[in-house]
Amino acid sequence: HAKLSGKNRFSGFVPEMTLAAQRRVRIERDLRKAMERNELEVFYQPQFDCRSETIVGFEALARWPHAEQGYIAPSDFIPVAEECGLIGELGLWVLRRACADTAAWSKATGKALGLAVNVSARQLRERAFVDQVGQILRDTGLPAAQLELELTESFLMGDVEAALAFMRALREMGVKLSIDDFGTGYSSLSYLQSFPIDRLKIDRSFVQLLPEDGFTMTSAIISLAHGFDLSVVAEGVEAPSQLSWLQGAGCDYVQGYLMARPMPASAVRDLLLAQTASRQVPEPA
Ligand code: C2E
Ligand code: MG
Ligand code: MG
Ligand code: MG
Repeated sequence: HAKLSGKNRFSGFVPEMTLAAQRRVRIERDLRKAMERNELEVFYQPQFDCRSETIVGFEALARWPHAEQGYIAPSDFIPVAEECGLIGELGLWVLRRACADTAAWSKATGKALGLAVNVSARQLRERAFVDQVGQILRDTGLPAAQLELELTESFLMGDVEAALAFMRALREMGVKLSIDDFGTGYSSLSYLQSFPIDRLKIDRSFVQLLPEDGFTMTSAIISLAHGFDLSVVAEGVEAPSQLSWLQGAGCDYVQGYLMARPMPASAVRDLLLAQTASRQVPEPA
């Protein structure tokens, strides 16, 4: 082992995989701890009616405040949670928290606010998932019609029969289903015909090219959605020119930094209260 303890060991050469693996192990360990200590948070990004520009609901997005690293991005910990089997528990935690918050806001404002929650393909392999969703809706008092689960195309590509059964069960409960990041996956368009879907979410990568570029894809998705009687949400709207293009193209809903960034529950409360309060002020004659 002379070579290992020699010069090479300290030459700074560490295989990339080893670093990535180490980081992953560290994230997994810290994530387990954070979940035990109930340290995860849910942020909410408002979704707007494209025409009236009023808030119709929120997308719940998991956040992990880390003691040393600030907020760790979902793109760093969701894949780890999926691989190490923590995603089931994490997903149900997010769902419960978000349903409870949305039920409270709906009650306070008298508006049936929508709630969209991301679901990993992995979670749908767990047989108990449908029952757990039902239990959470009963516990929190959120009407099923206000909940939308965001699925990915990768979920639809797996076991088609299992996916169908799963989707029908949720649909029967009254829950809505949408396809997230639509247009980025590899699945066949024919699934739009066979799966019980309510909504498509146009991926940010197309929306961000608007209005100079990307309009062929975006308008194709909008007419595809409407042709199948689905509603359509554009995500990642950052510029006023993108919003007005989408309004002109008949998009139904929008979500993006231009209107609002994801925010903690406390900020949502303030936002909704401000909206409600301003509406109660009579219009000047
Ligand atoms: P997503 O579901 O497609 O969520 C939209 C992402 O785009 C969010 O990133 C949001 O913060 C970001 N975003 C929204 N508007 C804009 C914009 O105008 N510009 C830009 N540049 N970004 C915008 P976030 O919160 O980092 O989440 C990343 C992904 O992590 C999500 O993508 C989703 O796939 C996953 N994720 C987040 N929370 C959960 C969760 O609770 N469960 C599961 N399974 N996945 C989650
Ligand atoms: Mg999403
Ligand atoms: Mg998305
Ligand atoms: Mg995404």
